[in-house]
Amino acid sequence: MLDQAKRMQGMSSAIFTQVDDMRKKAVAAGKDVITLSLGSPDVPPAPHVMEALLKGVADPKNYGYALSKGTPEFLQAVTDWYGSKFGVALDPATEVHSLLGSQDGLAHISLCFANPGDVVLVPDPGYPIYTAGPVSADAELYLMPLTPENDYLPDLDAIPESVLKRAKMMILNYPNNPLAATATVEFFGRVVELAKRYKFLVCHDFAYSELCFDGYRPPSFLSLPGAKDIGVEFHTMSKSFCMAGCRVGFVVGNAQAIELLGRVKSNFDYGIFLPIQQAAVAALTGPQDCVAAMADEYARRRDIVVDGFNSMGWKVTRPKASMYVWAPVPTKQDSFSFAASLIENAGVVVVPGVGFGPYGEGYVRIALVQPQDRLREAVDRIRKWLG
Ligand SMILES: *Cc1c(COP(=O)(O)O)cnc(C)c1O
Repeated sequence: MLDQAKRMQGMSSAIFTQVDDMRKKAVAAGKDVITLSLGSPDVPPAPHVMEALLKGVADPKNYGYALSKGTPEFLQAVTDWYGSKFGVALDPATEVHSLLGSQDGLAHISLCFANPGDVVLVPDPGYPIYTAGPVSADAELYLMPLTPENDYLPDLDAIPESVLKRAKMMILNYPNNPLAATATVEFFGRVVELAKRYKFLVCHDFAYSELCFDGYRPPSFLSLPGAKDIGVEFHTMSKSFCMAGCRVGFVVGNAQAIELLGRVKSNFDYGIFLPIQQAAVAALTGPQDCVAAMADEYARRRDIVVDGFNSMGWKVTRPKASMYVWAPVPTKQDSFSFAASLIENAGVVVVPGVGFGPYGEGYVRIALVQPQDRLREAVDRIRKWLG
């Protein structure tokens, strides 16, 4: 065996791998398995998006290296979309950068701001890249617990002054994965103040900006006065436009952060395949009714799961946004054992909350990534098992 780097211990995927192994075993045993674990959208992209991709692929001029920053059309499309959706004005020359999925930006931004031993404030539970990114920069993590008592918002007053003084970044994500929680403008305002006082970068992951229901619209962090002085917002085409496999996203906001991240990326990669950028432009500038239709579909799926669970006495909250239901474990098991039993007894795969951090224990995350009839079937099977 070769010696592995110490930081690899901070990049644990053990729980996700274990759950997937259980899923594979059940499938191999001939079980009809309903997979509600990975948050990969099953809804196809709009036809005009796929047509733009096909047209781009057929053009021989599109096969050279793209520049990592993004084509002028892409940067302008993002700027216009941002202005019209969130009322935030951006300079496409300095405040927008393309990403190979938002994962790319979230993974590499720590390299721009954190020296070894510097603190990065991360939510717990949280999306795994929020810890893997800082760990790859040898930064120190400070976990901010997200609990129902605080409406799943970090308790800013509970962060010790000594930690804030060493903090170089804070990572936030609303609408949240895995909690499906949302943030208020008031909370964002307090974050802006804190970040200015202690001079750290706020990285807001806005992956679910378009997955919102019942007329609710989540606020952009950058819409707060002064937010651009200390903040960036990460977006992905994966969820809003059902383009997860295309690996395309973008980061907007603070020009210094965008320049530094751009410098890292110009060393690490050579940009996004041009036809994919063209498809992204088609998605951002084309008709937006497909986005509303997709959100409607997720809302209906949410209702099937929430109403179904509540009617069997499994009390869960109805989220206003995201593509998840965050449900307390209804048995006396820990989240991992419950997830294992659920595969065994109902053939339904969910993610144990502890996979997102210690504060996720006691919950499971259900991703609404199957059609409505399959979700009804999942609810029926769970009802039969839990009684
Ligand atoms: C799905 C998801 C992303 C998307 O990552 P991409 O690399 O853009 O596909 C980012 N953040 C969160 C919280 C997500 O759930």
